Amino acid sequence: MNSAERTFRSLHFGLYSTYMERTKGLSNFHTHCNLDDGTGVMEEYVLSALSKGFSALGFSCHTPGKLQDGWHMRTEDFPGYLEEIARLRSLYKDRIEIYAGLELDYLEDTREMVGYEYRDQVDYTIGSVHMMRHAKSDRYLAVDGPIEEYELLLEDNFQGDIQRFVGYYFEIQERMIAQYRFDLLGHCDLMKKRNKGNRFFDPKEPWYRKLASHLLKTARKHKVRIEVNTGGMARGATDEVYPSFEMIEECALLGIPLTLSSDAHQSAHLDFYFSQADDQLVQAGHRTLDVLQHGMWQSVPIV
Ligand SMILES: [Zn+2]
Ligand SMILES: [Zn+2]
Repeated sequence: MNSAERTFRSLHFGLYSTYMERTKGLSNFHTHCNLDDGTGVMEEYVLSALSKGFSALGFSCHTPGKLQDGWHMRTEDFPGYLEEIARLRSLYKDRIEIYAGLELDYLEDTREMVGYEYRDQVDYTIGSVHMMRHAKSDRYLAVDGPIEEYELLLEDNFQGDIQRFVGYYFEIQERMIAQYRFDLLGHCDLMKKRNKGNRFFDPKEPWYRKLASHLLKTARKHKVRIEVNTGGMARGATDEVYPSFEMIEECALLGIPLTLSSDAHQSAHLDFYFSQADDQLVQAGHRTLDVLQHGMWQSVPIV
């Protein structure tokens, strides 16, 4: 083969592999496992990702650190987590890209990002708000936990005022966005997880739309990437993805980049509802999604 042929071949192969990445290109960067509140060992998720034709998989355990509560990773497990990801990355390097991430927790009462000290040891981080400090018991209660916790927060912290409760959840995320740097904003309308059948509020009402819109504008100002998360649907808790279609449409208008995540807690759910969510994204006006590729966040076409 002469040099012209070699150049042609490498160019041709280069273009072909780019095309393959785009069309094959399934990936997920919000993945739990048995080191936090997920089930199954990490390798099980890699094998599932391979069977589904993924080109990349990122693990994002609930961060180690001060919240040692049974659903966050135990701090002593963190070195083993990184070692296992390194082992899997090397073992499967010809077939899939594997990344180490963490889902960090912003605490509204102390304004700290739990796990922020680990950010340099991982490839990317997700910024999430799951909890608020309960005024009466002084414990953290989850907005996506048991319904009793949601109701305790609503009654005791907000005197039953759902608009203030929801408004505060959006406001905390805006604070987190202004204070810290992270790669993805996690499930930004998580308040609807316990709102099946609009039990507490109607997300189409103007007050709600206004609060949601304010969050999105803050996200745009700080150049935050937002995830479209199918995890609520996988658990049967919601009838739609996080965030709602209206918010996804507004992200398109504002030019906010999105990723698509399953927030999988079991390996079978790695691509849960992905094809339908893809269609919705296109319908909402999006033409690209952000993915980690070759170690960098890149925008890839979805149409
Ligand atoms: Zn989460
Ligand atoms: Zn998660």
